[in-house]
Amino acid sequence: MAAKEFDVIVIGGGPAGYVNAIRAAQLGLKTACVEKWIGKSGKPALGGTCLNVGCIPSKALLESSALYVNAKDASAEHGITVGDIKMDPKGMIERKDKIVTELTSGIAMLFQANKVEWLQGAGKLLKDNVVEVTDHEGKVATYKAKDVVLATGSVPMDIPSAVVDNKRIIDSEGALNLTEVPKRLGVIGAGVIGLEMASVWSRLGSEVVIFEAMDNFLSAADQQIAKDAAKHFKKQGLDIRLGAKVTESKASAKDVVVKYADKDGDHEEKFDYLLVAVGRKAFTDGIVDEAVGLEMDGRLVKADDNCKTNIANVWAIGDLVRGPMLAHKGSAEGIAVAQRIAGQYGRVNYDAVPWVIYTHPEIAWAGKTQEQCKADGIDVVTSSFPFAASGRAKAMGATEGLVKVIADAKTDKLLGVHIVGANASELIHEAVIVLEFGGTSEDLASTMHAHPTLAESVMEAAHGIHKSAIHMMNRK
Ligand code: FAD
Ligand code: NAD
Repeated sequence: MAAKEFDVIVIGGGPAGYVNAIRAAQLGLKTACVEKWIGKSGKPALGGTCLNVGCIPSKALLESSALYVNAKDASAEHGITVGDIKMDPKGMIERKDKIVTELTSGIAMLFQANKVEWLQGAGKLLKDNVVEVTDHEGKVATYKAKDVVLATGSVPMDIPSAVVDNKRIIDSEGALNLTEVPKRLGVIGAGVIGLEMASVWSRLGSEVVIFEAMDNFLSAADQQIAKDAAKHFKKQGLDIRLGAKVTESKASAKDVVVKYADKDGDHEEKFDYLLVAVGRKAFTDGIVDEAVGLEMDGRLVKADDNCKTNIANVWAIGDLVRGPMLAHKGSAEGIAVAQRIAGQYGRVNYDAVPWVIYTHPEIAWAGKTQEQCKADGIDVVTSSFPFAASGRAKAMGATEGLVKVIADAKTDKLLGVHIVGANASELIHEAVIVLEFGGTSEDLASTMHAHPTLAESVMEAAHGIHKSAIHMMNRK
């Protein structure tokens, strides 16, 4: 029997792949998406890492744990007396699972509504744009498409000194499913996952120690912001040990013994659980037949700025290719590629990608850091506005942190905005829009902002570039 034909077959139904499939179908292309994920309930699920074991479940737990801490610690200051507050981690996990199921089945409904065919199982690209799909019962079928989009995402990196056993030594998926609060939690890697997961469990009462191999904290972030954030995390009780290299981890039925080395020598610590969060790697196992001749770039699939691979009509998007491993970056590539396949304009502005770390306070940035500007030889003017000087932040009891604006000294072009503080995840989009339009710090400063809002702090920081901030002393 002849293979069923599509205009587009997407392999992988995460935020890169499912968004690409929906956009392609919207543009009138006959589209299928191959996805093999089996959810926690044992049923096939769309949404990839982000919806099932990433962005969404982690934010659900961050929200529950923040609510608990606020009720416990912040009420008295507001004149509220609260009785005995208890946390049931099982209830928190159940709520998270419900949100995941609702969202992943929502994608299945969107597929139906847009007439995207979901091919359940594992896809493999063969020569001449033939896609072989092995379903969950092991049955194999082949399909053909004019264009194939690879979007198989990423998986956690592993290290020999802490091998994940999913019992005492866990990865991020394990950390999202603990049903007891560890007395002591060890974390390897003070990156995004390490900090977010450490925040959840420390808010619920765990004593958390984070081992970070680098001497610098959050080296990708602007270092003024990283230093300020580190101060707040320390105050919250997160014990972040920099320059700490884990050399061995031994798990028993009830704990894990971790050996590590730093500038002071060799040390040993005992934990109930150890989370390994040392980065993620592109997932390429068995997705393309060797005969296709797909070019790789180390662990990644090689793709140009338009997400084209070296094979005609084969594209690659999301965590599988260069650039930050972020859901919105993958989705933006998914939309752009669908539009290009349909003969329309599609582009991704890699210079205006927002980054967010959903700790308390939140950390967010877009554009260049001051360190990057220096390395690129760009002469800059910077200005920082502390949330402590914001009326809204005071009313909210959220005076931690600051907004930092970086502008080109000659042209005033906005180069970067860096925020540590409440709602930084939302505030950063002011910067993203100005960066997208190639605007100046003056554009940001002269845009009227509602009072009282946290967003006024972004405006005030931008005013500071021109020594015209009203609610702080301007630089000399
Ligand atoms: P994925 O989401 O990994 O999806 C790839 C899909 O391909 C998977 O569903 C997989 O089953 C499927 N697949 C693989 N091989 C095959 C095959 N052969 N056949 C069929 N299907 C296949 N990013 C953010 O932007 N914000 C956040 O807050 C955030 N939080 C995160 C928290 C955690 C704990 C983690 C782990 C990640 C987080 N991320 C976050 C990163 C984000 O999840 C990824 O950047 C994003 O999911 C990448 O999307 P993707 O579509 O490229 O890949
Ligand atoms: P990461 O790259 O953010 O951090 C990993 C950290 O581990 C780094 O600081 C690194 O120096 C350290 N490290 C590496 N090897 C080590 C070792 N042997 N010992 C000690 N430290 C070591 O990676 P992650 O936190 O695992 O997250 C993976 C990806 O998922 C990130 O690239 C991120 O883009 C994405 N993610 C994003 C969000 C978000 O957007 N809020 C949340 C979670 C994850």
